[in-house]
Amino acid sequence: MTESPKPTGEKTSGRCPICTKPTAKEHRPFCGKRCAEIDLGRWLKGSYAVPGEPTGNIDDGRFDEED
Ligand SMILES: [Zn+2]
Repeated sequence: MTESPKPTGEKTSGRCPICTKPTAKEHRPFCGKRCAEIDLGRWLKGSYAVPGEPTGNIDDGRFDEED
């Protein structure tokens, strides 16, 4: 039988999505506060860039029938 080597010490369930470093326990899922803030910034940027609802292209016909 062969036993696969078990990782001992740090129990990281993943890696930092920003810099791919081992995840820090206090800053999951990031490696540190810096990367956490970077990701937060991306989030905020993304929410700001959310496309608005389609306007001016509604074919309702109400305005045209108003005579
Ligand atoms: Zn990181």
